[in-house]
Amino acid sequence: MSEPSQSAEDYLERIHELIEEKGYARVVDIASSLDVKQASVTSMVQKLGELGYLNYEKYRGLVLTDKGRAVAAKIQKRHETLSRFFSLFELDKQVQQHDIEGIEHHLSPDTLEVLSDLASFFEENPAELEKFKKSRRKNQA
Ligand code: MN
Repeated sequence: MSEPSQSAEDYLERIHELIEEKGYARVVDIASSLDVKQASVTSMVQKLGELGYLNYEKYRGLVLTDKGRAVAAKIQKRHETLSRFFSLFELDKQVQQHDIEGIEHHLSPDTLEVLSDLASFFEENPAELEKFKKSRRKNQA
């Protein structure tokens, strides 16, 4: 397995976030934030360890290896790109988060690049974004 699977990506993403937020990632916290059983976390953590993405250290708990951190950073960057894009359109924050979690594993690098460029374009040209929003309002009226 060269690329982590979708659910492996979710775990690495969440473990990385927990470590950034709290300084550690406990099985119980991973389980509750991904809404899965602790036994599933334990087995995925073991698998991710075998694949070289993380280690368990006696006093620190779970730590990502360089390889795990690199993958987590890539996942995080992708999430941020999608978040930059979707936040342009005044969508509900929770809906955005939910939708991003749903699609982020399924986008090819090319498609992601288009969305990233589109986000940059609108950020750099707010008048164009306004035009687009106006046109939507007109179509909805
Ligand atoms: Mn995500």
